[in-house]
Amino acid sequence: MITISHVNKWYGPTFQALKDCTTHVGKGEVVVVCGPSGSGKSTLIKCVNALEPIQGGEIIINGTKVNDPKTDLPKLRSHVGMVFQHFELFPHLKIIDNLCLAQEKVLGRKRSEAMERARVLLERVGLKSQAQKFPGQLSGGQQQRVAIARALAMDPIAMLFDEPTSALDPEMINEVLDVMVQLAHEGMTMMVVTHEMGFARKVADRVIFMDQGEIVEDANKDDFFGKP
Ligand code: ADP
Ligand code: ADP
Repeated sequence: MITISHVNKWYGPTFQALKDCTTHVGKGEVVVVCGPSGSGKSTLIKCVNALEPIQGGEIIINGTKVNDPKTDLPKLRSHVGMVFQHFELFPHLKIIDNLCLAQEKVLGRKRSEAMERARVLLERVGLKSQAQKFPGQLSGGQQQRVAIARALAMDPIAMLFDEPTSALDPEMINEVLDVMVQLAHEGMTMMVVTHEMGFARKVADRVIFMDQGEIVEDANKDDFFGKP
C-alpha cells in the first residue's frame, strides 16, 4: 500500500533529515514509527503525503508515485488521511461543518450525503452530541477524535498519524488511542508516529525505530518487544 524506497530528504543544502530510508506498509498493516526527538519521524510521514519534497528515492502509495510531477497531489492527499499533533480543526466552524467541508469541496458530495457520513463518524468516535459545538468548546481529546473522524469522512485508503496524543493531557490520551485501536482492528492501513508503546504492543504489526534520519530497526512487533 505504501512503499518507501531509498528516500533521501534534505532541509537546505547542508542538513540531511532522511538517509536512505526504506520500508513498506502493507494493506491493513499498522506500522508504528518511534525514535528520539529530531530523528526524522515527522519528516518521514510528511514526505509520504508529499507535504515535503524528497531529493532521492521513491514513495509509492497504492500504485501512485508521490514524487512524480504528473501525480495529482491534492487528489492523492484526499485519499490519505492525516492526523497531526495539534488538531487543526477550523475554529470558526461547528464540529459538523468541520466534518462536511472537505467532503463537499473536495469530493463533491451533496450536503445531505456529507451530513449523513459526518453523523455516522461522530457517533463512532463517541461525539454525536457535540455536532453543533465549536472546536474551542471541546476538550483536546474530543478535538483529536473529531480530527480523526474528519479524516475518515474522506474514505481514506490509509491513515497517517503524527504524534496524535502528545499534546493531550494524560487522562485524554486513552480516549484517542481507543479510537485508533478500533480503526486498526477494522483493518485500516496505518502509519503512526507515537511514543505510546502500549499502543504499539497492542496493535502494531511492525515497529520502525529511527535515529538521526536513518531507519535503524524495522521489526515485527514480537521481535521488537521480545516474545511475551
Ligand atoms: P522528529 O519527528 O523525529 O522529532 P523531525 O522530522 O521533526 O523529527 O525533524 C528531523 C530533523 O529535521 C530535526 O533536526 C529538525 O530540526 C529538522 N527539521 C524538521 N523540519 C525542518 C524544516 N522545515 N527545516 C529545517 N529543518 C527541519
Ligand atoms: P513536529 O516534529 O511535530 O513536526 P516540530 O515542533 O519539530 O514538530 O516542528 C514544527 C514545524 O517547524 C514543522 O513544520 C517543522 O517542519 C518545522 N521545523 C522543525 N524544525 C525546524 C528547523 N530546524 N528549521 C526550520 N523549521 C523547522
